Amino acid sequence: MTGDPGPRIPRTKIVATVGPACESADGLRAIVEAGADVLRLNLSHGTLDAHRSTLSLIRELEARLDRPIAVMADLPGPKIRLAGAVTDELATGSEVTLGGPAAAVDDSKLRLAIDADGVLESITVGDRVLLDDGNIRLRSLAVEGAGVDLVVRCSVRSGGPLRPRMGVNLPDSDPDLPAVTPRDLELAQAMASDGVDYVAVSFVRDGGDLRRLRTTLDAEGTRPGLVAKIERPAAVHDIEDVIAASDAVLVARGDLGVEMDIAKVPVVQKRIVASAVAAGLPVIVATQMLQSMIDSPTPTRAEATDAANAVLDGTDALMLSGETAIGRHPTAAIEMLGRIAVATEDWSDESGRSAVTGMSHADPADPWMPAIAAGARRIAREIRARAVLAWSHDEHTASLLSRERFQVPILVFTSEIRLARRMRLLRGVRPVVVEPVSGRGEFLRVAVAEAVARNVAGVGDACVFVHGSGRDSDRPTDAIGVLRVGDEGGPDT
Ligand code: PGA
Ligand code: MN
Repeated sequence: MTGDPGPRIPRTKIVATVGPACESADGLRAIVEAGADVLRLNLSHGTLDAHRSTLSLIRELEARLDRPIAVMADLPGPKIRLAGAVTDELATGSEVTLGGPAAAVDDSKLRLAIDADGVLESITVGDRVLLDDGNIRLRSLAVEGAGVDLVVRCSVRSGGPLRPRMGVNLPDSDPDLPAVTPRDLELAQAMASDGVDYVAVSFVRDGGDLRRLRTTLDAEGTRPGLVAKIERPAAVHDIEDVIAASDAVLVARGDLGVEMDIAKVPVVQKRIVASAVAAGLPVIVATQMLQSMIDSPTPTRAEATDAANAVLDGTDALMLSGETAIGRHPTAAIEMLGRIAVATEDWSDESGRSAVTGMSHADPADPWMPAIAAGARRIAREIRARAVLAWSHDEHTASLLSRERFQVPILVFTSEIRLARRMRLLRGVRPVVVEPVSGRGEFLRVAVAEAVARNVAGVGDACVFVHGSGRDSDRPTDAIGVLRVGDEGGPDT
């Protein structure tokens, strides 16, 4: 007899941004039940206190639903924004003057203030100044004055309405701002001490930006995973260094599409996903995934195809931004992404598997795991296993199994909720928190019972299991085996 598989759960993960459309207790519950694996708190908006209360709502929900939920705090980074009140509409063909923060008090209609130090200085004649993700385009005509009086006169190539705190991109200038501002550091420390699982670092330039933040957070004993948001050409060029310094990467197509030629973004996305998968690092594809669903109950055909292509390329996760934060259909957007992922994975999940079989991520404490993971995959295919059941005493077992891109669910058992939360980002991995087990017999009984309870496998189905053979469940992973559900045996196996 074979168990009823029930509705398929996508192996590709979904990151949902929390915002007014879903931040109530009921709203959060709805998006988690719709299939969100990771909840993103966007620290560019709202107060630190509000994000901390959202985090506690999420933790209450996690306890009530009895399933680990990952939370990612996304730092604003050195995003350049307009300061002061802006009510103007910029007319195409007109001229506008950009000044420093002090200019905010000037209510002259044709003067805009830039809310950052050292930015205007980097603009030279002929540079583009883009507002609102490139919807409003200026070009600098002249740089005048110096110090606090420095202003840049610009022609408006393509005008439009202004809003307060609109984003500014300077793709031709090189302000070379560090990714972690003093404000970011405060936010990261506060959210990390509250126990977020991931901190996303915006506008990363290179690995150094991540290493410096990690040193500070490590000194305080809070160890969130660091997610490098790739949204500057410098990070694209230095992608191997960024990958080596981070715990996950995020392809931030919004800013990337303004900072570099939008025509190159699709290929850059594919290259980043391939590099991350090869290195065994989780990767998230973000921004405008189902943009039209902010208003509409169904996506465009192009959006559905874009999401499916990211799944085919092997991404670990797809991220929703405005769709869940401010959209009219947050749960429908998550369900739609899930359905696209399932349909695409069913057709082919061979792609996106790491071509690297080396030991690039081998942990000295767990030296055999890459080989065990590759072996488990081969066995699972040949015996047509319905699931992989693994004990994970650290992050490596789960991430190396995920890297193999199994076509069946990987249930990863751990006694530590913090490990389980982080695993929710990993493609194919379904973390399960259980009491510590001692020995193979107890692990198998617990693991099989969970697999059956979750409709992942039924009596007679083959499963592959992976665990540490020592009596103590913290032993390195060193054993691999097969069993049929029903044969897991009694207390003495
Ligand atoms: P953001 O980052 O939504 O924080 O700007 C993502 C992106 O730029 O694509
Ligand atoms: Mn961005």
